[in-house]
Amino acid sequence: MKELVEKLYSGQDLSDSELAELINDRDDETAELLRIRADEVRQRYYGKKVFLRGLIEVSSHCKNDCLYCGIRRSNRDADRYRLDREMILSCCENGYSLGFRTFVMQGGEDSFFTDELMCSIISEIREKYPDCAITLSLGERSRESYRLMKEAGADRYLLRHETASPELYRRLHPAEMSLDNRIRCLFDLKELGYQVGSGFMVGAPFQTTEDLVTDLRFLQKLQPQMIGIGPFVPHHSTPFAEEKGGTLELTLRLLGILRLMFPKVLLPATTALGTIHPMGREMGLKTGCNVVMPNLSPVDVRKKYDLYDNKICTGEEAAECRHCLDRRIVSAGYEVASERGDCADFTI
Ligand code: SAM
Repeated sequence: MKELVEKLYSGQDLSDSELAELINDRDDETAELLRIRADEVRQRYYGKKVFLRGLIEVSSHCKNDCLYCGIRRSNRDADRYRLDREMILSCCENGYSLGFRTFVMQGGEDSFFTDELMCSIISEIREKYPDCAITLSLGERSRESYRLMKEAGADRYLLRHETASPELYRRLHPAEMSLDNRIRCLFDLKELGYQVGSGFMVGAPFQTTEDLVTDLRFLQKLQPQMIGIGPFVPHHSTPFAEEKGGTLELTLRLLGILRLMFPKVLLPATTALGTIHPMGREMGLKTGCNVVMPNLSPVDVRKKYDLYDNKICTGEEAAECRHCLDRRIVSAGYEVASERGDCADFTI
C-alpha cells in the first residue's frame, strides 16, 4: 500500500481502483506515510503558514431540507436567527482588529438576504476593508446573483458539492434539490472569476468508497481553489439522527489524499473535525491542512447555527476563539499567517 502513496505523491493521480484501495486501507504505517508526504507537499507551497478565515454565520433560516442538516426547514425545534447589516459589520470590525484579513459570510438559504441587501453589505465591507478578502457561502443562487455580488466586491465562494454521485445525492436531499443545479452553480462561480471552494462530508449515510472516488474525480474536473471536507456528524432532530458519523481515520486519510492530488489547494481543518476529536484540527494540520476558520459570530447566536450535535466553538468570544486556534496552530508546529491567504495557484 505504501507504493500507492509514493505513486500518488510523485504523479498526483491514481486509477479508480488504486484510489479505492488507498481509501479502504486501514494500516497505521500507510496512514503515517501519507501524513508525512501530505505535510511535505503543503510545506513545499505554503511553508508552515496556516491562513485564518473569520467565519460570520449570518442566518440559520433555510429554505432547503437537506436530510443531514440541523437547520433544515423541517426541523421545527431549530431556534432561528439572522444577523442584520450592523451586526455583520460589527463582526467585521471586531475581526479586523483581531487580525483577520478574510471574512466568510455563511448561512442557510435565507430569502431575506436579497441580491440588493447582499450587494450593499458587500460594497460596504469592500470599501471599509480594501485589504481583506470577502468570501460568501450562501448556497445556490442564480448566475445573475453571483455576478452582482462579485461586482459588489466578493472574491470567493464556498459551496460544497456534497456528493458527486447522483444516486447518493438523491438519498441525502429532498426531491426538489438537484445535483445538476449545484454543479451549475459551481461552474458559474468559476466562470465569473470567484475563487471557489467545494467539498463533501466524509462518512455521510449510504456513502460508499466508489462515491468518494467519484467526489475526487469531480474535484479534478472543477479544480477549485479550496476543498472543504469534514466528517458527517449526526444531528438529533434530523432523519439521520441514528446514523453513524464519519470517522477521524477516514477523514484524515482523505485529507492526505487530497493534498497529494491537489498540491496547491487551500485545505481547511474544519470545525466538524475538531468536534469528533479534541485534537482533530491539529491532526488535520499535520496531514496537509493549511486553513482554519475561527468563529466571529456574536456569541448569543452561536448555538443556534446548529448544523450537527456537539458543535464546538459555540461558547467563546471571537477573541478567545482566535487565541485558542492560535495556540493550537503553534502547538501543532505551524505558524499563524495574518494575511488574505489566496490560493498559491490563483493570481488576483
Ligand atoms: N447553505 C450553504 C450551503 O448549502 O452551502 C452554507 C451553509 S451549509 C449548512 C454548510 C455545510 O455544512 C454544508 O455544505 C454541509 O456539508 C455541512 N453540514 C451540514 N450538516 C452537516 C452535518 N450533519 N455534519 C457535517 N457537516 C454538515
